[in-house]
Amino acid sequence: MANPFTLGVASGEPFPDSLIIWTRLAPSPLHLDPARPGGLPDRPVEVRWQVAEDERFARIVRAGATQAQHRWAFSVHVRVDGLRPGTDYFYRFRSGGHLSPAGRTRTAPDPRSTAPVRFALANCQRFEHGHYTAHRHLAAERPDIVFFVGDYVYESRQAADPVRTLPLTGEADTLHEYRLRYARYKLDRDLQAAHAAAPWVPTWDDHEVADNYTGASSFFARRARAYRAYYEHLPLRVRPEGHSLQMFRRRTYGTIADFLVLDSRQYRVPGVSMLGQAQEDWLLARLRASPVRWKVLVQPLFFARRLIPGSGLRPDAWDGFPEQRRRVLDVRAPGLVVLSGDVHNTWACDLKADFLDPGSPIVGSEFVTTAVSSRPPATDADAVLRANPHIRFFDGRRGYASGTASATEFRLAFRAVDFVDRPGAPVRTVAEFVTEGQGMRRSDV
Ligand code: FE
Ligand code: CA
Repeated sequence: MANPFTLGVASGEPFPDSLIIWTRLAPSPLHLDPARPGGLPDRPVEVRWQVAEDERFARIVRAGATQAQHRWAFSVHVRVDGLRPGTDYFYRFRSGGHLSPAGRTRTAPDPRSTAPVRFALANCQRFEHGHYTAHRHLAAERPDIVFFVGDYVYESRQAADPVRTLPLTGEADTLHEYRLRYARYKLDRDLQAAHAAAPWVPTWDDHEVADNYTGASSFFARRARAYRAYYEHLPLRVRPEGHSLQMFRRRTYGTIADFLVLDSRQYRVPGVSMLGQAQEDWLLARLRASPVRWKVLVQPLFFARRLIPGSGLRPDAWDGFPEQRRRVLDVRAPGLVVLSGDVHNTWACDLKADFLDPGSPIVGSEFVTTAVSSRPPATDADAVLRANPHIRFFDGRRGYASGTASATEFRLAFRAVDFVDRPGAPVRTVAEFVTEGQGMRRSDV
């Protein structure tokens, strides 16, 4: 067998005592025969794995073997238990005489921990639109945890004026086509570096399945294929069952941050509910009861009201669900922060109890992270800022965000690269915001 570790390694879903390590065997990742994903025939392949306390694997604390299965495209998701909280680990795989690259990961802290949490946030990485330089810089920061809030792949047919080209240029629809899309994206070395640098907790938006799809049953068959390919390529704890995959979940970091990861697509009913009843009940209950300092909604879509002069409100984002948004804000959860993406530009917003009343109190902060590579829409940012006084900041470059939550403050820096049409752009901080009580202030000027 040729080297099967062409798609890198990953880890994710950190708990204080366990996490998931991932790889997918693919000696020929862009193989075009649907019956041989990654170029492999229908025969299980043994994969051995190791987890160590040190980068040189001198102190191995867990090890084992598993079978990579044809029906899961030879992906491997190992749950590693018995780990210590708030601790760095290193992991690697071995199969067919080949050794994978090593990844660095980290468990969540003890539930009583007061240690600050360092996190990064990224989204929207359309392959043809540009290079993943942002991921290279994100990897260098070695955060405790990485959140990815959607558009990990784009199912769309290849974009005009591609910076990089796809092996199959049509819209992905079959399982084989979705798998090939992931394989092409995951061959990228910068994306591999970001996965190998820290544990990821991803959620999806629409393009992992189809543009602006909803929970309607007309999408079920395609959704089942797309969810399966998504699972096969990310370090998730839970497997899909048909067209269902449990994605909304809580990842709690000590007494500091309750990361409430949302699924904005699977249960969506246009104009009525973005989250569905069960997810809304879960979210509101946790917002009301959480004893943790920061309640952080991790999800794709622009949460604050955003009136775009000349075109209005976007019904696909939270502006299409104002009553559900109001129920979230009406909890008045202290320490509410929303992390979002989707719009391919950077924005920062005060969350208001009533967005239309200038005297209404600020009840939280929203940080909208720009795309890793996806091109932005034409935006008259000045007009949007004038029409929405609670929106505080805009930047139009590609990048990611990184932040630190502590007992005293929630600090977030927007990082940007000046170009993605070729590799090698340096990174700069375009703005940094600090939230202490309710409401943010800029800390870098
Ligand atoms: Fe996008
Ligand atoms: Ca999107």
